[in-house]
Amino acid sequence: MENVAIIDLNFLDTNEAIASFLVETSHGPVLVETGPESTFEQLKEGILRNGYQLEEIKHVLLTHIHFDHAGAAWKLAETGAKIYVHPVGAPHLASPEKLWNSAKQIYGDEMERLWGEMQAIPEDQIIEVGHEEELVFGKIRFKALHTPGHATHHIAWKMKNVIFTGDVAGVKIKGGPAVPPCPPPDINIRDWEISMAILKAEKPECLFLTHFGIINNVDEHLDNLCYILHDWSKWIKPHFDANTDQQEVIPLFMEYTKIHLRSEGCDEDLIQVYEYANPSWMSVAGLYRYWRLKSQGRIN
Ligand SMILES: [Zn+2]
Repeated sequence: MENVAIIDLNFLDTNEAIASFLVETSHGPVLVETGPESTFEQLKEGILRNGYQLEEIKHVLLTHIHFDHAGAAWKLAETGAKIYVHPVGAPHLASPEKLWNSAKQIYGDEMERLWGEMQAIPEDQIIEVGHEEELVFGKIRFKALHTPGHATHHIAWKMKNVIFTGDVAGVKIKGGPAVPPCPPPDINIRDWEISMAILKAEKPECLFLTHFGIINNVDEHLDNLCYILHDWSKWIKPHFDANTDQQEVIPLFMEYTKIHLRSEGCDEDLIQVYEYANPSWMSVAGLYRYWRLKSQGRIN
């Protein structure tokens, strides 16, 4: 795609862990994903490298409000950008304290190093976007596809014949396999399957993954992702049923995923990048929560 630039945010000094996308339109550049605030300088450099000043970014499209995708959105709002987001995510951008504090409980002292800061975005700069709603920038249109499963507040953005998939099309880095990021609190396997069907039904020529880059064999990629999503959730289930402490399960799951990544040809460095983009402990926590809610009949 000639009008899409992939900006590598060099998260934790690695290549191809987190991307932001700059799309040129006749109405100025549009940014899809901001990455976390901790990589804001790299984002700024990437925008400059593509011939724009930060202040020229007036439209920022978020796939969802997790820090690795939306953490720097408030910085772009400061320089005048409008932030387009799922209605469920919008209140958290206006008052990020709850989001921040619950993450702080998980990340503790690592919080700032990983994600930087997060500040409130003025409400008049937050635009909620409904399912199949279109944003029009001259000849370029973005269609919002509400795609829960990874997060309830997830949007995949279709532009022409490509889709920016956030996390709903998984993580696939440097030729490694497709894997599903499963953080708490919203994982829902059935919703995720339906969302993948929504992506397929759009018949895109390619996908842009935030972690990381272009996917051309769309259906095969999504089928592989679906397989691993079920594989992981089935792997976790007996541990959940046996009430095994999550701390005991994390190293076992890490080993399990490592064996999978190695069998797909990943070396140790690449396994580390996968771990940065999609930490194993987070997927254990997310899938435990999924099975708990399911066993309580609170989700389908
Ligand atoms: Zn992510």
